[in-house]
Amino acid sequence: MIDQKIIDLVNEKTPIVDLASEFVSLSKRGKNYMGLCPFHDEKTPSFSVSPEKNIAMCMGCHEGGNPINFYRKIKNIPFEQAVEELATRAGIEIKKKAVKKDPYEVYYRLMNEVASFYQFNLKSSQKGMDALKYLYGRQMTDPLIQHFRMGYAPPYGQTLYLFLKDKGFNVSDMIKMGVVKQSDDGNYYDLFSDRITFPITNPKGEVVGLSGRTLNPKDPVKYINSPETEIFKKGQLLYHLFEGMQDIRKSKEVVLYEGFFDVISSYAAGTKNGVATMGTALTMDQAKLIKSVAPTVVIAYDGDKAGL
Ligand code: ZN
Repeated sequence: MIDQKIIDLVNEKTPIVDLASEFVSLSKRGKNYMGLCPFHDEKTPSFSVSPEKNIAMCMGCHEGGNPINFYRKIKNIPFEQAVEELATRAGIEIKKKAVKKDPYEVYYRLMNEVASFYQFNLKSSQKGMDALKYLYGRQMTDPLIQHFRMGYAPPYGQTLYLFLKDKGFNVSDMIKMGVVKQSDDGNYYDLFSDRITFPITNPKGEVVGLSGRTLNPKDPVKYINSPETEIFKKGQLLYHLFEGMQDIRKSKEVVLYEGFFDVISSYAAGTKNGVATMGTALTMDQAKLIKSVAPTVVIAYDGDKAGL
């Protein structure tokens, strides 16, 4: 958290005309400066910069604002980063307020360990090697496996439970996260068994859930997901949003798919800015997430009834 006084000071000490000139070619019109808007396509200038008010604003698309907001939007960076970079330019030192500890921190750590444990298993056990062969057989390459953090859940029932226990996690937290379950006779067992695992992250990149694809042809359930938890709310996240962020920024576009496997195959084919909902209809929260990262969305749903 950055102090509001610092934010005000950074805005005050950053002359908007100088800042905007780095991105837009400006010419003087009366008290203000005008230029072609950097946020939308246009042929006549409607981007107005006021040295007096120290703001820059497009009359057409209304993007812009004070120096921090303008800078944040044009560079497509988080608010705090924008403040920090502009503070450095203006020679202002930032003292950060003590950051409140995230109450879910232990869950994120746990889920990250789960994903890493399965990743490790994919390449370091005999059963894992079989799973790896299966993936190679489906045109998955090592960089692809790495990018999506694919893993393998062993079939022995308790390996994850014992691993997490050994790492010092409480069994109640494992159960809350849904990766370990308790049977009627009181024993603990892993949710995923003999499955390829695909971690699902939140927009900050923390692993919050997993999907598992069975390798057993007799298993009637092809895919299972870890259940909704305090940190895994399917309607509030998009698969691959965090991992695809760099490509989304570059292309200023999100390609929206119906399922996470579409994201992976499109990535393999070179379309790297794909995201997907996790087995639910698109929610308002997800639409807002997309809007916060890119001005354009391409909807790549199936042409069936549900897709339409
Ligand atoms: Zn504009």
